[in-house]
Amino acid sequence: MPVKRKSRGRSKGGKGRSDYVQCSICGQLVPRDKAKKITRPKWILDPALARELRQKGAWISTSVETKYYCISCAVHHGLVRIRAEEERKVVPRRRRSRPYGVRRRKPYVSLLGV
Ligand SMILES: [Zn+2]
Repeated sequence: MPVKRKSRGRSKGGKGRSDYVQCSICGQLVPRDKAKKITRPKWILDPALARELRQKGAWISTSVETKYYCISCAVHHGLVRIRAEEERKVVPRRRRSRPYGVRRRKPYVSLLGV
C-alpha cells in the first residue's frame, strides 16, 4: 500500500491502539503517538531577577511544562514544517538535549597554578 510517510505520521509501530491526549491549543483529542510533545522549563521569575537571586544564594524551584499539540496546530505555530515528498520518507533525527537541571561543568582551574 502506498503511504505518504514511512511512519504513517505516528510513532506507533506495530502496536495496536494508543491513548488520547488533548491538544493544548484547540482541545482536539489526538492519539498520544501522533501528537507533538513539547517540554519546556517554566520560569516563574524574570530571568534577570532569578540570576541575581541565585548569586545571593537563593534556591529557586523550577518546573517543567509539557504540552501536546495536534498536527494542524503544530504546523500553524511552526513546530513542524510541511516537507517535500522525498523528505517525508526520512524519519528526522531527534535533537538530544541535556536533561533539564543538569548543568555543563566548568573546566577545572587550579587556584594554586599547579
Ligand atoms: Zn490543536
